[in-house]
Amino acid sequence: MAQILHGMPVQTLILSQLRPRIQRLRRPPGLAVVLVGHNPASEIYVRSKIKACAELGIFSERLTPPESVTTEELMAIVGELNHRTDIDGILVQMPLPKHVDARAVLEAVAADKDADGFHPVNVGYLVAGRPAPRACTPAGIIELLKHYKIPIEGRHALVLGRSDIVGKPMALMLLHENATVTICHSRSVNLSGICRQADILVAAMGRPGFVTGEFIAPGATVIDVGINRITDRAEAARLGRAEEFDSKGKAMVGDVHPLDVARVAGAYTPVPGGVGPLTIAMLMANTVALAERHTCSA
Ligand code: NAP
Repeated sequence: MAQILHGMPVQTLILSQLRPRIQRLRRPPGLAVVLVGHNPASEIYVRSKIKACAELGIFSERLTPPESVTTEELMAIVGELNHRTDIDGILVQMPLPKHVDARAVLEAVAADKDADGFHPVNVGYLVAGRPAPRACTPAGIIELLKHYKIPIEGRHALVLGRSDIVGKPMALMLLHENATVTICHSRSVNLSGICRQADILVAAMGRPGFVTGEFIAPGATVIDVGINRITDRAEAARLGRAEEFDSKGKAMVGDVHPLDVARVAGAYTPVPGGVGPLTIAMLMANTVALAERHTCSA
């Protein structure tokens, strides 16, 4: 039987370790979340981030500019937050509307308030292996692997996807843990053959149930980052989620085929309940670390 790597116990542990650090600060850490427009998925993510802040004693503020906001207006909002002494971390919820220059907005966030670890300065620190806010999802995956004592050093880790927010930082973090790292993407050839060589397979593609049994080496550890909403019953049935679809009219699946991974892998993260809780935990950890830096230097 494959081991299921649940994210919630790891989230609980990380948050419990943050509490005494928060209590030692001269003031509560502050996180500002900028949520543009009315994207239902983004609203759900932001709600859970704000809830986590409230439960931990982190001050949070939600700013909700309309869908019509311009790049310049958003950069001005971020600029004001950069100057606020009660705000340690700033998060601009992605995706932004198409007319907004997302890169310019992310780069407008001060590097020392970059709660998401996306700023080029912090990406540079990651490449150099120096301390800085880390991209939350891959940082959470490293915590998850360590918590469940999955060996990383010397293992072949394969990252499927090369986005700036998951794939690339994931590959670098695995490299810093001394894995032998391969990155695959949409132009890679013989994808299933390469994936089958991996001891640790991280799927971050945004393709529902793409990673089927033939991608997975027997006994491998499979980390499923994908969050995909299925609205087609036949697709839900292919992925063993017909029951969920029939009761809710939709189903939530990752990038890995849930039935195949349970059959072939040695350990795997479920969707939901695997990687997701770790992303929130690491956002809280980044915010607390930034607050420690700000309150010590104040
Ligand atoms: P993204 O920016 O769309 O990147 C997807 C990557 O997958 C790209 O590098 C792309 O390759 C690659 N890819 C797509 N189709 C492929 C194919 N058929 N074969 C090989 N590679 C393929 O996505 P993302 O932002 O990294 O997110 C990935 C998934 O993770 C999404 O489902 C997202 O919702 C989820 N996510 C979850 C969390 C969480 O907390 N659990 C956090 C962030 C993201 P190219 O570069 O060649 O186009």
